[in-house]
Amino acid sequence: MPHIYDVVIIGAGPAGCSVAYNLYNQGIKNILLVDKDVFPRDKLCAGGLTIEAQVCLEEMGILEIVKTRAYEVYKVKYITPYRTILKGRRVETPMPEMLVIRRKIFDSILLDYVKGLKVSVREGIHIKGFWENNGKICGVISSKDEHIGAKVVVIATGANLSGFDLKKRSYPKIISYMGRYENTNFEKNVAYLIYDKDFLPLYGWMFPEADDQVNIGIGVEWPTYSKHKITEYFEKIRSTYLNQYMKDARLTGITRGFPIRYTYRIKDIVDRNILYVGESGRIVSAFTGEGISQALVSGRFAAHTISKYLNNNCLAELAHYEKLVRRKYRVFPWLRLVKSFIRYKHNWRIIEAFQGKESKLSSQFTENIL
Ligand SMILES: Cc1cc2nc3c(=O)[nH]c(=O)nc-3n(C[C@H](O)[C@H](O)[C@H](O)COP(=O)(O)OP(=O)(O)OC[C@H]3O[C@@H](n4cnc5c(N)ncnc54)[C@H](O)[C@@H]3O)c2cc1C
Repeated sequence: MPHIYDVVIIGAGPAGCSVAYNLYNQGIKNILLVDKDVFPRDKLCAGGLTIEAQVCLEEMGILEIVKTRAYEVYKVKYITPYRTILKGRRVETPMPEMLVIRRKIFDSILLDYVKGLKVSVREGIHIKGFWENNGKICGVISSKDEHIGAKVVVIATGANLSGFDLKKRSYPKIISYMGRYENTNFEKNVAYLIYDKDFLPLYGWMFPEADDQVNIGIGVEWPTYSKHKITEYFEKIRSTYLNQYMKDARLTGITRGFPIRYTYRIKDIVDRNILYVGESGRIVSAFTGEGISQALVSGRFAAHTISKYLNNNCLAELAHYEKLVRRKYRVFPWLRLVKSFIRYKHNWRIIEAFQGKESKLSSQFTENIL
């Protein structure tokens, strides 16, 4: 008879680690966290931790450790399709507007923290699907046919849902393209979001990882743009908008496409005793592609409902998870409207009027873009 865990969590990214941490904190210790990779492993991501993500990390007691390895951003500059830099509004908080950290480092900090609690963790195990018996989910099965028994299964596998997508629904996705550069010469502690008429409603970004290192990327709606166009727009971001800061820059990191899956309507994130957290539940902002804070928050909600279920053995408790997530992200359905609005270049005049203009891009710069 195999050991039956109270909870088995598949995927040790921010969502999986958040579930494990919060379960442990609520006294649920018979849990197993597994990942197909051995950490430290990389994950294609710009590594921007928003204020909400920082608040979550502070609640977990890990923010200070993360800060020692992250780069602080005090100003995010928004460039409009009219090449105006918006003044923007600063949220009043002592936290930096963003922390930028390599995911290889961030995810290892999180996982080490969970391991330090003595949560059982197994790395290098690929889980291929559910262990199902007479319509009941008894756990999961690894690609080496190991059966792992659990009362509750949490899917935290990120964009990859293969083997776990019971409803077989299709979701919209953003395709991103990203490169890492060193020996750059940007203003310190400043990031850029660039809204160019060619790929609205999404954007290009520059996130600094150190004083002279940045990651640059672009996200576009799939399948509106061909692979060829995405490469072209990525090049446009780098060589026109940012070129003046990158004259001696060297490309050091990967540059490739990767999906970010999102939804406008949170749905089907609970099925019997299975919960989907983070990006596997498509709990990602359709507007910005941000998914780390959502992974941490949904992980906390999942742990909260699972501990209630385990305490009173009432399966209906788990359904509450979907309600909590929906309530928290009630803005998601509206993001479709927001995106339709900013898709049109002329609407940016309205945004400029509301947000205020800080400056125009320099004329030499503007000529290049035109
Ligand atoms: C280019 C790019 C830039 C981004 N930039 C940002 C940003 O700046 N800020 C932000 O907030 N978000 C950003 N995101 C989104 C963010 O990366 C994700 O939404 C976030 O990582 C989701 O966390 P997660 O824990 O749900 O999944 P993940 O971080 O993807 O973790 C999933 C884990 O599951 C494991 N796994 C998968 N399948 C299996 C399996 N079958 N068996 C065992 N283990 C498995 C994986 O190895 C992985 O460790 C970006 C995404 C991309 C692609």
